[in-house]
Amino acid sequence: MSQVRVRFAPSPTGFFHIGSARTALFNWLYARHTGGVFILRIEDTDKERNSEQFLNVIYESLRWLGMNWDEGPGIGGAFGPYRQSERAAVYAEYLEKLRAAGRTYEKDGATWFKLIGDRHEVFDEHRKKTVTKVNVAPTVIEDQIRGRVERLEDEDFVIVRSDGNPVFHFVNVVDDIAMKITHVIRGEDHLSNTSKHVELFKAFGVPVPAFAHIPLILKQNGPGKMSKRDQGALIEEYQKRGFLPEALVNFLCLLGWNPKDDREKMAISDIVALFDLPGINQSNARFDEKKLAHMNMSYLLELPEEKFLERATAFFRAHPAGVPALADAGVFREVMRLAQPKIKGLEELPAYTAYFFTDDFLIDAKVQEKVMGKGDPKARLGELLGALPSMDFSNDSVIEEAIKSLAAGRGLGFGDYQAVTRLAISGTNAGPSITSMFRVLGRERVRVRLERLLAT
Ligand code: GLU
Repeated sequence: MSQVRVRFAPSPTGFFHIGSARTALFNWLYARHTGGVFILRIEDTDKERNSEQFLNVIYESLRWLGMNWDEGPGIGGAFGPYRQSERAAVYAEYLEKLRAAGRTYEKDGATWFKLIGDRHEVFDEHRKKTVTKVNVAPTVIEDQIRGRVERLEDEDFVIVRSDGNPVFHFVNVVDDIAMKITHVIRGEDHLSNTSKHVELFKAFGVPVPAFAHIPLILKQNGPGKMSKRDQGALIEEYQKRGFLPEALVNFLCLLGWNPKDDREKMAISDIVALFDLPGINQSNARFDEKKLAHMNMSYLLELPEEKFLERATAFFRAHPAGVPALADAGVFREVMRLAQPKIKGLEELPAYTAYFFTDDFLIDAKVQEKVMGKGDPKARLGELLGALPSMDFSNDSVIEEAIKSLAAGRGLGFGDYQAVTRLAISGTNAGPSITSMFRVLGRERVRVRLERLLAT
Protein backbone atom coordinates (compact mmCIF):
# COMPACT_ATOMS: atom_id res chain seq x y z
CA MET A 1 0.00 0.00 0.00
CA SER A 2 1.13 3.53 -0.69
CA GLN A 3 2.18 5.77 2.17
CA VAL A 4 -0.60 7.07 4.37
CA ARG A 5 -1.21 10.82 4.00
CA VAL A 6 -3.61 12.43 6.44
CA ARG A 7 -4.44 16.03 7.10
CA PHE A 8 -5.79 18.18 9.85
CA ALA A 9 -7.77 20.94 8.18
CA PRO A 10 -8.92 23.55 10.69
CA SER A 11 -10.71 26.75 9.84
CA PRO A 12 -9.26 29.55 11.96
CA THR A 13 -12.65 30.97 12.90
CA GLY A 14 -12.43 30.54 16.65
CA PHE A 15 -10.24 29.42 19.50
CA PHE A 16 -8.73 25.97 19.35
CA HIS A 17 -10.94 23.61 21.33
CA ILE A 18 -10.94 20.08 22.67
CA GLY A 19 -12.80 18.64 19.68
CA SER A 20 -10.35 20.10 17.15
CA ALA A 21 -7.38 18.97 19.19
CA ARG A 22 -8.75 15.45 19.34
CA THR A 23 -9.30 15.39 15.55
CA ALA A 24 -5.76 16.65 15.00
CA LEU A 25 -4.45 14.06 17.43
CA PHE A 26 -6.20 11.11 15.79
CA ASN A 27 -4.77 12.18 12.44
CA TRP A 28 -1.32 12.63 13.94
CA LEU A 29 -1.50 9.25 15.70
CA TYR A 30 -2.60 7.49 12.56
CA ALA A 31 0.26 9.04 10.60
CA ARG A 32 2.79 8.09 13.25
CA HIS A 33 1.33 4.60 13.63
CA THR A 34 1.57 3.90 9.91
CA GLY A 35 4.80 5.76 9.19
CA GLY A 36 2.72 8.17 7.13
CA VAL A 37 2.64 11.91 6.62
CA PHE A 38 0.70 14.36 8.80
CA ILE A 39 -0.30 17.49 6.93
CA LEU A 40 -1.61 20.75 8.34
CA ARG A 41 -3.92 22.53 5.91
CA ILE A 42 -5.57 25.78 6.82
CA GLU A 43 -9.10 26.13 5.49
CA ASP A 44 -9.27 29.90 5.52
CA THR A 45 -11.39 30.70 2.49
CA ASP A 46 -14.05 32.41 4.59
CA LYS A 47 -12.37 35.79 4.74
CA GLU A 48 -14.96 37.34 7.01
CA ARG A 49 -14.63 34.80 9.78
CA ASN A 50 -10.93 33.97 9.74
CA SER A 51 -8.31 35.69 11.80
CA GLU A 52 -4.55 35.54 12.13
CA GLN A 53 -4.97 35.48 15.87
CA PHE A 54 -6.90 32.21 15.74
CA LEU A 55 -4.39 30.84 13.26
CA ASN A 56 -1.54 31.48 15.65
CA VAL A 57 -3.45 29.81 18.45
CA ILE A 58 -3.78 26.71 16.26
CA TYR A 59 -0.04 26.61 15.51
CA GLU A 60 0.86 27.29 19.11
CA SER A 61 -1.53 24.70 20.53
CA LEU A 62 -0.45 21.97 18.11
CA ARG A 63 3.19 22.61 18.96
CA TRP A 64 2.48 22.67 22.67
CA LEU A 65 0.72 19.32 22.42
CA GLY A 66 3.63 17.87 20.47
CA MET A 67 1.75 17.31 17.23
CA ASN A 68 4.44 18.35 14.82
CA TRP A 69 3.31 18.44 11.19
CA ASP A 70 5.35 17.08 8.29
CA GLU A 71 3.90 19.37 5.64
CA GLY A 72 2.11 22.65 6.11
CA PRO A 73 2.56 26.30 7.05
CA GLY A 74 6.07 27.13 8.17
CA ILE A 75 7.35 23.73 7.06
CA GLY A 76 6.44 23.65 3.39
CA GLY A 77 6.17 20.47 1.35
CA ALA A 78 5.68 19.34 -2.22
CA PHE A 79 1.95 20.12 -2.31
CA GLY A 80 1.82 23.67 -0.97
CA PRO A 81 0.82 26.31 -0.39
CA TYR A 82 -1.03 24.90 2.60
CA ARG A 83 -3.39 27.77 3.19
CA GLN A 84 -6.50 27.66 1.07
CA SER A 85 -6.49 31.44 0.75
CA GLU A 86 -3.30 31.05 -1.31
CA ARG A 87 -4.54 28.27 -3.57
CA ALA A 88 -6.87 30.10 -5.97
CA ALA A 89 -4.86 28.90 -8.98
CA VAL A 90 -5.31 25.26 -7.95
CA TYR A 91 -9.06 25.70 -7.61
CA ALA A 92 -9.29 27.36 -11.02
CA GLU A 93 -7.38 24.48 -12.56
CA TYR A 94 -9.63 21.86 -10.97
CA LEU A 95 -12.77 23.79 -11.84
CA GLU A 96 -11.63 23.69 -15.43
CA LYS A 97 -11.29 19.90 -15.23
CA LEU A 98 -14.89 19.55 -14.06
CA ARG A 99 -16.06 21.96 -16.73
CA ALA A 100 -14.23 20.02 -19.43
CA ALA A 101 -15.87 16.82 -18.17
CA GLY A 102 -19.28 18.46 -18.55
CA ARG A 103 -19.99 18.35 -14.83
CA THR A 104 -20.70 22.04 -14.20
CA TYR A 105 -23.18 24.68 -15.29
CA GLU A 106 -23.84 28.31 -14.48
CA LYS A 107 -27.06 29.45 -12.87
CA ASP A 108 -27.88 32.65 -10.98
CA GLY A 109 -24.27 33.77 -11.27
CA ALA A 110 -22.98 30.69 -9.39
CA THR A 111 -21.27 27.59 -10.68
CA TRP A 112 -23.11 24.35 -9.92
CA PHE A 113 -21.94 20.78 -9.75
CA LYS A 114 -24.05 18.56 -11.99
CA LEU A 115 -25.11 15.10 -10.87
CA ILE A 116 -25.75 12.50 -13.54
CA GLY A 117 -29.28 11.13 -13.96
CA ASP A 118 -32.79 12.03 -15.08
CA ARG A 119 -34.20 15.22 -13.62
CA HIS A 120 -37.62 16.18 -12.39
CA GLU A 121 -39.10 19.08 -10.46
CA VAL A 122 -40.71 18.59 -7.07
CA PHE A 123 -42.13 20.99 -4.55
CA ASP A 124 -40.13 20.79 -1.34
CA GLU A 125 -42.55 21.34 1.55
CA HIS A 126 -39.79 22.03 3.98
CA ARG A 127 -38.02 24.69 1.95
CA LYS A 128 -41.27 25.91 0.42
CA LYS A 129 -39.96 25.96 -3.11
CA THR A 130 -39.65 23.88 -6.25
CA VAL A 131 -36.37 22.01 -6.54
CA THR A 132 -34.81 19.84 -9.21
CA LYS A 133 -34.22 16.26 -8.13
CA VAL A 134 -31.90 13.89 -9.95
CA ASN A 135 -32.62 10.18 -10.21
CA VAL A 136 -29.54 8.63 -8.63
CA ALA A 137 -28.70 5.68 -6.43
CA PRO A 138 -27.69 6.57 -2.87
CA THR A 139 -24.06 7.44 -2.36
CA VAL A 140 -22.20 4.80 -0.40
CA ILE A 141 -19.63 5.80 2.20
CA GLU A 142 -17.47 3.01 3.55
CA ASP A 143 -16.52 4.55 6.84
CA GLN A 144 -13.73 2.94 8.84
CA ILE A 145 -15.50 3.73 12.09
CA ARG A 146 -19.21 3.84 11.26
CA GLY A 147 -19.20 1.09 8.68
CA ARG A 148 -21.27 1.38 5.52
CA VAL A 149 -23.30 4.57 5.38
CA GLU A 150 -25.72 5.37 2.55
CA ARG A 151 -26.99 8.81 1.77
CA LEU A 152 -29.12 10.08 -1.05
CA GLU A 153 -27.39 13.01 -2.72
CA ASP A 154 -29.95 13.88 -5.35
CA GLU A 155 -29.62 17.61 -5.95
CA ASP A 156 -26.99 19.58 -7.79
CA PHE A 157 -25.10 21.94 -5.52
CA VAL A 158 -23.13 25.17 -5.80
CA ILE A 159 -19.35 24.87 -5.96
CA VAL A 160 -18.44 28.48 -6.76
CA ARG A 161 -20.56 31.27 -5.33
CA SER A 162 -21.69 34.25 -7.35
CA ASP A 163 -19.00 36.36 -5.66
CA GLY A 164 -16.40 34.03 -7.20
CA ASN A 165 -15.48 32.24 -3.97
CA PRO A 166 -15.39 28.45 -4.18
CA VAL A 167 -17.41 26.70 -1.47
CA PHE A 168 -16.11 24.45 1.29
CA HIS A 169 -17.11 21.14 -0.36
CA PHE A 170 -15.21 21.98 -3.51
CA VAL A 171 -11.95 23.27 -2.01
CA ASN A 172 -11.93 20.54 0.60
CA VAL A 173 -12.12 17.80 -2.03
CA VAL A 174 -9.79 19.52 -4.48
CA ASP A 175 -7.14 19.82 -1.79
CA ASP A 176 -7.57 16.24 -0.68
CA ILE A 177 -6.95 15.21 -4.28
CA ALA A 178 -4.12 17.66 -4.92
CA MET A 179 -2.40 16.79 -1.64
CA LYS A 180 -2.84 13.05 -2.27
CA ILE A 181 -4.73 12.47 0.97
CA THR A 182 -5.36 8.76 1.56
CA HIS A 183 -7.47 8.97 4.74
CA VAL A 184 -9.93 11.65 5.77
CA ILE A 185 -10.23 11.54 9.55
CA ARG A 186 -12.60 14.18 10.89
CA GLY A 187 -15.50 14.86 13.22
CA GLU A 188 -18.80 13.09 12.76
CA ASP A 189 -20.48 16.45 12.16
CA HIS A 190 -18.95 16.26 8.66
CA LEU A 191 -20.56 12.93 7.79
CA SER A 192 -23.51 14.82 6.30
CA ASN A 193 -21.12 16.50 3.84
CA THR A 194 -19.35 13.35 2.81
CA SER A 195 -21.82 12.19 0.16
CA LYS A 196 -21.25 15.45 -1.71
CA HIS A 197 -17.52 14.93 -1.36
CA VAL A 198 -17.70 11.36 -2.63
CA GLU A 199 -19.62 12.51 -5.71
CA LEU A 200 -16.97 15.15 -6.38
CA PHE A 201 -14.14 12.65 -6.06
CA LYS A 202 -15.92 10.39 -8.55
CA ALA A 203 -16.50 13.27 -10.95
CA PHE A 204 -12.78 14.02 -10.92
CA GLY A 205 -12.17 10.38 -11.78
CA VAL A 206 -9.92 9.76 -8.78
CA PRO A 207 -10.09 7.08 -6.08
CA VAL A 208 -12.17 8.07 -3.06
CA PRO A 209 -10.02 8.30 0.11
CA ALA A 210 -10.82 6.19 3.14
CA PHE A 211 -13.11 7.99 5.57
CA ALA A 212 -13.12 7.82 9.34
CA HIS A 213 -15.69 9.97 11.12
CA ILE A 214 -14.89 10.34 14.79
CA PRO A 215 -17.77 10.34 17.30
CA LEU A 216 -18.75 13.53 19.04
CA ILE A 217 -17.57 14.69 22.42
CA LEU A 218 -20.47 15.20 24.77
CA LYS A 219 -20.34 17.89 27.40
CA GLN A 220 -19.64 16.92 30.96
CA ASN A 221 -23.25 17.11 32.08
CA GLY A 222 -26.28 16.68 29.92
CA PRO A 223 -26.93 15.24 26.51
CA GLY A 224 -25.49 17.94 24.25
CA LYS A 225 -22.35 18.10 22.21
CA MET A 226 -19.48 19.96 23.80
CA SER A 227 -19.18 23.41 22.28
CA LYS A 228 -16.45 26.00 22.20
CA ARG A 229 -18.32 27.91 24.84
CA ASP A 230 -18.41 25.10 27.35
CA GLN A 231 -16.26 25.25 30.42
CA GLY A 232 -12.99 23.46 29.83
CA ALA A 233 -13.31 23.53 26.04
CA LEU A 234 -10.32 25.66 25.09
CA ILE A 235 -6.85 24.17 24.76
CA GLU A 236 -5.21 27.51 25.43
CA GLU A 237 -6.77 27.59 28.88
CA TYR A 238 -5.10 24.35 29.85
CA GLN A 239 -1.79 25.70 28.67
CA LYS A 240 -2.25 28.85 30.73
CA ARG A 241 -3.26 26.86 33.77
CA GLY A 242 -0.07 24.84 33.60
CA PHE A 243 -1.49 21.47 32.58
CA LEU A 244 1.09 19.08 31.29
CA PRO A 245 0.63 18.63 27.54
CA GLU A 246 1.44 14.92 27.77
CA ALA A 247 -1.41 14.48 30.28
CA LEU A 248 -3.83 16.35 28.04
CA VAL A 249 -2.75 14.30 25.02
CA ASN A 250 -3.25 11.06 26.93
CA PHE A 251 -6.69 12.26 28.03
CA LEU A 252 -7.65 13.30 24.48
CA CYS A 253 -6.65 9.89 23.10
CA LEU A 254 -9.17 8.26 25.40
CA LEU A 255 -12.01 10.42 24.08
CA GLY A 256 -13.19 7.84 21.60
CA TRP A 257 -10.33 5.36 21.64
CA ASN A 258 -8.96 2.86 24.12
CA PRO A 259 -6.32 0.16 24.04
CA LYS A 260 -8.93 -2.57 24.68
CA ASP A 261 -7.62 -3.26 28.15
CA ASP A 262 -7.86 -1.37 31.42
CA ARG A 263 -4.98 0.92 30.77
CA GLU A 264 -5.61 4.64 30.77
CA LYS A 265 -2.29 6.24 31.54
CA MET A 266 -0.06 5.35 28.63
CA ALA A 267 3.15 6.65 27.15
CA ILE A 268 2.62 8.30 23.79
CA SER A 269 4.94 5.75 22.16
CA ASP A 270 2.62 2.95 23.35
CA ILE A 271 -0.42 4.79 22.06
CA VAL A 272 1.24 5.31 18.68
CA ALA A 273 2.02 1.60 18.53
CA LEU A 274 -1.56 0.52 19.33
CA PHE A 275 -3.65 3.23 17.70
CA ASP A 276 -5.73 2.23 14.70
CA LEU A 277 -8.86 3.55 13.02
CA PRO A 278 -11.07 0.48 13.55
CA GLY A 279 -10.23 0.80 17.26
CA ILE A 280 -12.10 4.10 17.51
CA ASN A 281 -15.47 3.78 19.25
CA GLN A 282 -18.71 4.38 17.44
CA SER A 283 -20.38 5.76 20.51
CA ASN A 284 -19.92 9.32 21.65
CA ALA A 285 -17.26 10.16 24.19
CA ARG A 286 -17.99 12.16 27.30
CA PHE A 287 -15.76 14.95 28.47
CA ASP A 288 -14.82 14.46 32.10
CA GLU A 289 -12.85 17.25 33.69
CA LYS A 290 -12.16 15.26 36.86
CA LYS A 291 -10.57 12.53 34.84
CA LEU A 292 -8.38 15.08 33.10
CA ALA A 293 -7.35 16.61 36.42
CA HIS A 294 -6.52 13.17 37.72
CA MET A 295 -4.53 12.35 34.62
CA ASN A 296 -2.61 15.59 35.02
CA MET A 297 -1.87 14.84 38.65
CA SER A 298 -0.51 11.41 37.92
CA TYR A 299 1.75 12.80 35.20
CA LEU A 300 2.95 15.53 37.58
CA LEU A 301 3.67 13.00 40.27
CA GLU A 302 5.92 10.91 38.10
CA LEU A 303 7.94 13.76 36.63
CA PRO A 304 11.60 13.51 37.61
CA GLU A 305 12.51 16.28 40.05
CA GLU A 306 14.50 18.25 37.50
CA LYS A 307 11.64 18.18 35.00
CA PHE A 308 9.14 19.24 37.62
CA LEU A 309 11.43 22.10 38.54
CA GLU A 310 11.64 23.17 34.90
CA ARG A 311 7.87 23.14 34.47
CA ALA A 312 7.29 24.93 37.74
CA THR A 313 9.83 27.60 36.85
CA ALA A 314 8.21 28.10 33.45
CA PHE A 315 4.82 28.33 35.10
CA PHE A 316 5.96 30.99 37.59
CA ARG A 317 7.62 32.94 34.77
CA ALA A 318 4.36 32.98 32.85
CA HIS A 319 2.47 34.16 35.93
CA PRO A 320 4.54 37.09 37.18
CA ALA A 321 2.11 37.82 40.01
CA GLY A 322 3.12 34.53 41.54
CA VAL A 323 6.87 34.84 41.11
CA PRO A 324 8.55 33.79 44.34
CA ALA A 325 10.31 36.99 45.23
CA LEU A 326 12.44 35.91 48.17
CA ALA A 327 13.51 32.54 46.95
CA ASP A 328 16.99 31.51 46.19
CA ALA A 329 17.44 28.50 43.95
CA GLY A 330 17.99 26.11 46.85
CA VAL A 331 14.83 27.15 48.68
CA PHE A 332 12.84 27.07 45.47
CA ARG A 333 13.98 23.51 44.81
CA GLU A 334 13.11 22.39 48.32
CA VAL A 335 9.67 23.98 48.17
CA MET A 336 8.95 22.41 44.80
CA ARG A 337 10.03 19.06 46.15
CA LEU A 338 7.44 19.42 48.92
CA ALA A 339 4.72 20.61 46.55
CA GLN A 340 5.10 18.08 43.76
CA PRO A 341 3.31 15.18 45.45
CA LYS A 342 0.59 17.42 46.88
CA ILE A 343 -0.76 19.49 44.01
CA LYS A 344 -3.18 18.43 41.28
CA GLY A 345 -1.88 20.96 38.79
CA LEU A 346 0.80 23.62 38.46
CA GLU A 347 -1.93 26.24 38.76
CA GLU A 348 -2.14 25.39 42.45
CA LEU A 349 1.53 26.19 43.01
CA PRO A 350 1.33 29.91 43.78
CA ALA A 351 -1.32 29.47 46.46
CA TYR A 352 0.18 26.28 47.80
CA THR A 353 3.66 27.70 48.22
CA ALA A 354 3.22 31.46 48.67
CA TYR A 355 4.12 31.59 52.38
CA PHE A 356 7.51 30.06 51.70
CA PHE A 357 8.41 32.96 49.50
CA THR A 358 7.03 35.89 51.42
CA ASP A 359 6.76 36.68 55.11
CA ASP A 360 3.80 38.83 54.31
CA PHE A 361 1.26 36.02 53.85
CA LEU A 362 -2.34 36.08 54.95
CA ILE A 363 -3.64 34.19 57.92
CA ASP A 364 -6.92 32.46 57.16
CA ALA A 365 -9.38 33.99 59.62
CA LYS A 366 -11.66 30.97 59.81
CA VAL A 367 -8.79 28.59 60.45
CA GLN A 368 -7.40 30.98 63.02
CA GLU A 369 -10.68 31.15 64.88
CA LYS A 370 -10.94 27.40 64.98
CA VAL A 371 -7.35 26.68 65.96
CA MET A 372 -7.06 29.42 68.56
CA GLY A 373 -10.34 28.43 70.14
CA LYS A 374 -9.20 25.00 71.20
CA GLY A 375 -6.93 24.09 74.14
CA ASP A 376 -4.17 26.56 74.98
CA PRO A 377 -2.47 27.20 71.64
CA LYS A 378 -0.60 30.29 72.83
CA ALA A 379 1.06 28.28 75.59
CA ARG A 380 2.21 25.78 72.94
CA LEU A 381 3.61 28.59 70.79
CA GLY A 382 5.51 29.97 73.77
CA GLU A 383 6.98 26.56 74.58
CA LEU A 384 8.04 26.02 71.00
CA LEU A 385 9.65 29.46 70.89
CA GLY A 386 11.57 28.60 74.00
CA ALA A 387 12.86 25.37 72.50
CA LEU A 388 13.72 26.89 69.13
CA PRO A 389 17.25 28.24 69.79
CA SER A 390 18.59 24.83 70.73
CA MET A 391 16.71 22.85 68.07
CA ASP A 392 18.65 20.99 65.41
CA PHE A 393 17.24 21.98 61.99
CA SER A 394 19.30 19.64 59.87
CA ASN A 395 16.55 17.22 58.85
CA ASP A 396 12.86 16.47 59.29
CA SER A 397 13.23 13.63 61.76
CA VAL A 398 15.42 15.49 64.25
CA ILE A 399 12.93 18.36 64.15
CA GLU A 400 10.13 15.91 64.79
CA GLU A 401 12.07 14.33 67.67
CA ALA A 402 12.67 17.74 69.23
CA ILE A 403 8.98 18.66 69.15
CA LYS A 404 8.00 15.23 70.46
CA SER A 405 10.35 15.46 73.43
CA LEU A 406 9.20 18.99 74.15
CA ALA A 407 5.62 17.65 74.17
CA ALA A 408 6.48 14.59 76.26
CA GLY A 409 8.02 16.83 78.93
CA ARG A 410 4.55 18.34 79.41
CA GLY A 411 2.54 15.17 79.11
CA LEU A 412 1.43 16.19 75.61
CA GLY A 413 1.85 14.84 72.09
CA PHE A 414 3.19 16.12 68.78
CA GLY A 415 -0.40 16.68 67.67
CA ASP A 416 -0.97 19.33 70.32
CA TYR A 417 1.59 21.57 68.62
CA GLN A 418 0.70 20.85 65.03
CA ALA A 419 -2.32 22.97 64.14
CA VAL A 420 -1.20 26.14 65.88
CA THR A 421 2.31 25.84 64.50
CA ARG A 422 1.01 25.32 61.00
CA LEU A 423 -1.25 28.32 61.38
CA ALA A 424 1.65 30.46 62.58
CA ILE A 425 4.08 29.53 59.85
CA SER A 426 1.73 29.15 56.88
CA GLY A 427 -1.52 30.90 57.78
CA THR A 428 -3.58 27.87 56.88
CA ASN A 429 -4.48 24.33 57.88
CA ALA A 430 -3.13 22.31 54.98
CA GLY A 431 0.27 21.86 53.44
CA PRO A 432 3.45 19.86 53.81
CA SER A 433 4.44 18.51 57.23
CA ILE A 434 5.37 21.18 59.76
CA THR A 435 8.78 19.57 60.19
CA SER A 436 9.50 20.02 56.47
CA MET A 437 8.28 23.58 56.68
CA PHE A 438 10.59 24.26 59.65
CA ARG A 439 13.56 22.86 57.78
CA VAL A 440 12.90 24.83 54.60
CA LEU A 441 11.98 28.11 56.32
CA GLY A 442 14.88 27.96 58.75
CA ARG A 443 15.05 28.89 62.39
CA GLU A 444 14.89 32.66 62.04
CA ARG A 445 11.82 32.83 59.81
CA VAL A 446 10.03 30.28 61.99
CA ARG A 447 10.79 32.34 65.07
CA VAL A 448 9.42 35.54 63.55
CA ARG A 449 6.23 33.76 62.51
CA LEU A 450 5.64 32.07 65.86
CA GLU A 451 6.10 35.41 67.62
CA ARG A 452 3.80 37.13 65.21
CA LEU A 453 0.91 34.80 65.97
CA LEU A 454 1.69 34.85 69.67
CA ALA A 455 1.38 38.64 69.61
CA THR A 456 -2.13 38.64 68.11
N1 GLU B 1 -12.32 22.96 7.80
C1 GLU B 1 -13.14 21.87 8.24
C2 GLU B 1 -13.44 22.09 9.73
O1 GLU B 1 -12.78 22.87 10.36
C3 GLU B 1 -12.43 20.56 8.09
C4 GLU B 1 -13.18 19.56 7.32
C5 GLU B 1 -12.39 18.29 7.08
O2 GLU B 1 -11.59 17.88 7.95
O3 GLU B 1 -12.56 17.74 6.02
O4 GLU B 1 -14.35 21.51 10.23
